[in-house]
Amino acid sequence: MSLKYAERMDNIKASEIRELLKLTQDPKVISFAGGLPAAELFPIEEMKKISVDVLEKYGKVALQYGPTEGYEPLRKVIASRMKKLGVEASKDNILVISGSQQGLDFSGKIFINPGDVILCESPSYLGAINAFKAYEPKFIEVPTDGDGMILEDLEDILKNNDNVKFIYVIPDFQNPSGRTWTEERRKGLIKLANKYDIVIVEDNPYGELRFEGEYLPALAHYDTEGRVIFLGTFSKIFCPGLRLGWVYARSDILNKFILTKQGADLQSSTISQIQVAEFFEEYDIDGHIEKLRTVYKKRRDVMIKAMEDEFPDCVSFTRPNGGLFTWAVLPENINARELAVKALKKNVAFVPGGSFFPNGGNENTMRLNYSCMNEEKIIEGIKRLAAAINDMLLE
Ligand code: PMP
Repeated sequence: MSLKYAERMDNIKASEIRELLKLTQDPKVISFAGGLPAAELFPIEEMKKISVDVLEKYGKVALQYGPTEGYEPLRKVIASRMKKLGVEASKDNILVISGSQQGLDFSGKIFINPGDVILCESPSYLGAINAFKAYEPKFIEVPTDGDGMILEDLEDILKNNDNVKFIYVIPDFQNPSGRTWTEERRKGLIKLANKYDIVIVEDNPYGELRFEGEYLPALAHYDTEGRVIFLGTFSKIFCPGLRLGWVYARSDILNKFILTKQGADLQSSTISQIQVAEFFEEYDIDGHIEKLRTVYKKRRDVMIKAMEDEFPDCVSFTRPNGGLFTWAVLPENINARELAVKALKKNVAFVPGGSFFPNGGNENTMRLNYSCMNEEKIIEGIKRLAAAINDMLLE
């Protein structure tokens, strides 16, 4: 049988993370590969109670179709939550979506014609790269340093490309690098976006997971012309299994997302939305987030210390002030994909960094997640990884 797939499917490959995660299901494997929150911190008892309460109180609504925009009380919760990130939002500018991943796919669907240029940080989130790829853009990676995109390079790119559709950024505790943009860079980005009339997609799953350093508002806070599309999610501050996130945008832009949502899946799960709204009403979500921060900070400290103690000096790594990831750079002659295979033989996993560069290269990098393994496993896993690195250095 000849299956006549659309050409765009040529751009859609199995995600390396997904393939790796399959292997890491084995309990023997210490996994720094996924971006999973710590499952032992999920509020399971509270959610049991909420589930029963929601069915008792709102059964008929909870199991019914609902509006595409989302469950109104949840949209209000989200609007008020955005204040924590310095954004004065109204529920009318919020669309509830099925995880922020859906917002990435919709951004591609709404803005990208084949061949259009989109700009992203170098490196950038693999899941976004894959979502955008389906719409066949040309990626231009903007060079970054520890403070965010290098704005002089960004301006050069904007000057020389007149078909840039949007700039995609993760300004807080970036996946994969762990890096956070400074205030100066945030302001500078908005200024350039205004000057060159470009939309920005701000992907912000980790902004509330700061455990060190000075508070910084989201990029959307600095927006002066409504050109930032903000994607938020309950996945990292609450539970990813509920698959709920949101888009916050100016009304005309949000309308495009609403229309796209209608075509994709009509609405996000009504019952999940009511459960989240109830949880936020009944329980102390800030206390919950504080608990996450404490645990993740400790795990970050343990991972950094283990890397300082165990890794050879030729390996450098970032020390993030929040979020779930650190990023390591190996000597140029070490290919992290080969290292990942060798490390898996020692029952430790990570994601090779090359996948986070849409145009390739940088094969000597790796992303390490510290949120979902306990401290003992982090220390043991880093020891095993160091042994795999040392084996490769001797080859
Ligand atoms: N953006 C970034 C930067 C992420 O790290 C993730 C999850 N790993 C997502 C978006 C998607 O998250 P979700 O769909 O669960 O909200």
